[in-house]
Amino acid sequence: MENLLLAKPIPVTEIDLSLFSITRYRLFVKREDLIHPFVSGNKFRKLKYNLQAAQKLSCETLLTFGGAFSNHIAAVAAAGKEMGFKTIGIIRGEELESKIAKNPTLTFAKDCGMQFHFISRQAYRLKEENEFIEELKNQFGDFYLLPEGGTNALAIKGCEEILGEVAFSADSICVPVGTGGTMAGLVKASNDGQQVLGFSALKGIFQSSEIAKYTSKANFKITDSYCFGGYGKIDIELVRFINEFKEKTNILLDPVYTGKMMYGIMDLLKKGYFKENSCIFAVHTGGLQGIAGMNQKLKKKNLPLIE
Ligand SMILES: *Cc1c(COP(=O)(O)O)cnc(C)c1O
Repeated sequence: MENLLLAKPIPVTEIDLSLFSITRYRLFVKREDLIHPFVSGNKFRKLKYNLQAAQKLSCETLLTFGGAFSNHIAAVAAAGKEMGFKTIGIIRGEELESKIAKNPTLTFAKDCGMQFHFISRQAYRLKEENEFIEELKNQFGDFYLLPEGGTNALAIKGCEEILGEVAFSADSICVPVGTGGTMAGLVKASNDGQQVLGFSALKGIFQSSEIAKYTSKANFKITDSYCFGGYGKIDIELVRFINEFKEKTNILLDPVYTGKMMYGIMDLLKKGYFKENSCIFAVHTGGLQGIAGMNQKLKKKNLPLIE
């Protein structure tokens, strides 16, 4: 199904901020979560030109890396299935091998035909070393390598396509940040008068230097003030916010990335961070497949679920 690579128009929704007792601002959300049920949001953008490159090279296999609940693993598995690539996932954590059935992300990827190779956390840290890649080639044969999180130059080229005409008149562009690849594309595509504001999903704002590898533009800033303690961490306040946002806007957010970004945007709006009367353009990068896995954790902790 080659049409996975064809761009389709993605809606931009305006959020009625009066529902959140906020006035004097406008907030728009680019619904990248609607791109595809499984190859969602920024993972589609990051894969697009890489999949084309793999096809051109007549590579039959995609190999990539990820953790237990990785949106990237789910997206690569689904894209491979639709486009006729074999897929191999190098998964962090040997203990997961016996727990595939209990893990919704891995179960999904497996059902798409992904072959797993589980490695220890220690070995996983070497994943970018040439020696390690060579070993994988000996083991699995030729493959097209997609880095963890999918960030490379072709991924950033794809992410530059996220901003459409509506974003052109926005004052601020907001995006969740993991590796920083998506944000790098947005910074490249932004105009100089705009600020691109990244909400780190993990502790630290080290992604700035990753972004600087791809662009010399400096109209961006990253904050980790809304990472809720770290990657994949969550508390009752975030769950409540995600559920409240869904109730008021009918837009579902994911707990790892977009929920934290939107919580941060609302907080910054209330604190007067943005210039008065300004227009904010937020990117819903998708990631909804991660909700099932997070709900398992919430259930164990007796916390309310995301619904
Ligand atoms: C992977 C992911 C991100 C982070 O993207 P980077 O390019 O790694 O910064 C943000 N949002 C969602 C939903 C993701 O799955």
